[in-house]
Amino acid sequence: MLDTINDVITALNKVAKRFYSLPDFCFHDGEVVGGENLKPLELRFMHEFSTQFSRIYEEKSAYKKLDYDFEVPKRFMWSEKANIAIRETYERLDRKFHSQVNMQTYFTTIPDFLVHAGQHDIQTENQKLIIEAKLNPNAPKGEVFKDIFHTFIYSNEYNFQCSIMLLVHFDKERWIKLLSDYINDKYYSGVLENTKRIFVIFKNSYDAEVECFSIYDLLNYPICPKCNEKMVLRTARQGFNAGNKFWGCSTYPKCNGTI
Ligand SMILES: [Zn+2]
Repeated sequence: MLDTINDVITALNKVAKRFYSLPDFCFHDGEVVGGENLKPLELRFMHEFSTQFSRIYEEKSAYKKLDYDFEVPKRFMWSEKANIAIRETYERLDRKFHSQVNMQTYFTTIPDFLVHAGQHDIQTENQKLIIEAKLNPNAPKGEVFKDIFHTFIYSNEYNFQCSIMLLVHFDKERWIKLLSDYINDKYYSGVLENTKRIFVIFKNSYDAEVECFSIYDLLNYPICPKCNEKMVLRTARQGFNAGNKFWGCSTYPKCNGTI
């Protein structure tokens, strides 16, 4: 599983700079005007990612006999025997965010990237990797919630060994806050143990370092000893501990609490 994550990060770091550029946005009353321009950009980015990933894929026996797909419709989601919690979350999200997302595609969804054994095989050992990517830094809450919801389903109902939410240009603190809101609102999240194989990857810009966390770690982050806010995992940039991970207050620079 960690190998897969490393391969994703390696491929991501090979995506050229031009794929990271965003169009000029117009903001009007806090809304992004022209946000629909981002869908083709996301496709372009993921296509390039897929090309880079394919080079690694060709060389590794772990991916032998598996297909990699990019933007293919896949029949996920529930059948008649669906988990009641999934159904309930679907209905709640649909009611609350109907102006932001189209939840009606619930019988078929289109993950951004997949490594699996084909459309009709849903066996555990063949469900290698699935990625939901987002390039829009202003994606509304409903869209983020939908990605989180779908990712929990991939991991729990379809046994994906590695499920990733890839966030390019997205503010890390905002995303972590949205994850906490999702959990606190008691939407479907499956089994806690499975959150160890769900990852979120942040890449803020072409030059920024990749940051990767398991959802398990994000949900179990400690509380700041100074101000009682949540803490986030950071990497020391300088000094004796450079490169090491540590817990820092999420409100930094307002509070500099660390453990
Ligand atoms: Zn603090």
